[in-house]
Amino acid sequence: MYELVVRRFFATLAPSAVWEHLRVVADADGERLKSNGKRLVEEGYHAVYPYFNTSENHVPAVEEGEALALADARIEAKQTQPPRRYGQSRLIETMEDLGVGTKSTRHNTIEKLYDRGYIENDPPRPTTLAKAVVEAAEEYADLVVSEEMTSELEADMTAIADGEKSLDDVTDESREILDRVFDDLASSREEIGEHLRTSLKADKTLGECPDCGETLLVRSSRTGSYFVGCDGYPECRFTLPLPSTGEPLVLDEACEEHGLQEVKMLAGRNTFVHGCPLCAAEEANESEDRVIGVCPDCGEEHDGELAIKQLQTGSRLVGCTRYPDCEYSLPLPRRGDIEVTDTYCDEHDLPELVVYDGEDDDDPWELGCPICNYEEYQERQRKKGLEVLDGIGPKTAEKLEDAGIDDVGDLSEAEPETVADEVAGVSADSVREWQAKAD
Ligand SMILES: [Zn+2]
Ligand SMILES: [Zn+2]
Ligand SMILES: [Zn+2]
Ligand SMILES: [Zn+2]
Repeated sequence: MYELVVRRFFATLAPSAVWEHLRVVADADGERLKSNGKRLVEEGYHAVYPYFNTSENHVPAVEEGEALALADARIEAKQTQPPRRYGQSRLIETMEDLGVGTKSTRHNTIEKLYDRGYIENDPPRPTTLAKAVVEAAEEYADLVVSEEMTSELEADMTAIADGEKSLDDVTDESREILDRVFDDLASSREEIGEHLRTSLKADKTLGECPDCGETLLVRSSRTGSYFVGCDGYPECRFTLPLPSTGEPLVLDEACEEHGLQEVKMLAGRNTFVHGCPLCAAEEANESEDRVIGVCPDCGEEHDGELAIKQLQTGSRLVGCTRYPDCEYSLPLPRRGDIEVTDTYCDEHDLPELVVYDGEDDDDPWELGCPICNYEEYQERQRKKGLEVLDGIGPKTAEKLEDAGIDDVGDLSEAEPETVADEVAGVSADSVREWQAKAD
């Protein structure tokens, strides 16, 4: 940044650059053919400021009226490229230009679109769901999606604040607009529903079922977890598991081996690409459990052993070989090669693990003994500030801290009734809810 500033300053003092342009216009049996050449004669400020393009384009020198020989003729079919997608800052600028939202809400609006699965990736790309909602709204209630309505409302708010319009005028007007919108929406209820249903189904489609040729879809179970199931159910019972974190989003990219669309799990900051679910399942089936020690829960009594396991959902863990009879398990990172070292933990008699993840093989993650690692992780979670819990904002956190509850660990051990008595505006039920989340 400093160099840019310095060079920019030098450039203002440097001489101008001199370019020579040559424009050749040829007549080929009535067709006008053009060619533009440019040459940097004196580089001037370009010598100190290299951030502008100085590429030259040479055209042979020709005299006016000269006859040129035809070397080659080709007919090429080309298509115009779609404009590049807006990045987030450009998007915010555009909202500003259209008068949509305020300085403090625009960024938030974009976050919300990510959270609700209307856009993904960076630069943001609309999902099929987003397109379907906009299409349906445009067709059946175009007022809602018109940016004019939003910006008009914003302008009216400002007018009220400036004393140019009365609150009653604006609310009457808005009420009238909203009445119209709701009439539109209510009368085309069926069509909108049908449109969304069709599009959403397309949004959940992964490709052909390897068992029966019907369509594989992302589905959710009664418990709210997601999996891949066949549209031919109940005749075809083919399923594939999906990771338990986040909400699945079907991507445009498809697996080369199976032709299935890849899946991304949307989970805020923990969002990750799961990839082809069939690949993940096959990988798990092919990988063998690596036994690393004795199970602390059932080893003595039943000879249970701990092993590194790869699950069909793509996640990995250290679990007991007697699963499901023994459910002892420790989490492992989803990615990277796990190496089992010869160094053993004195306390747990388990080998220390090292994870090699991608780029930097010289600097792997020394995870250590999986039990120690998990205990440290839990301790860190306990020490985290109260605001990691959903529903606790900065103000509530401050009030709780005043009552001597400084972190998630304190909150877990607190007596809900006592907290409710001591802290104004906090009910015993909300304390119980937070405690449930903390665990
Ligand atoms: Zn099937
Ligand atoms: Zn695959
Ligand atoms: Zn066990
Ligand atoms: Zn240990």
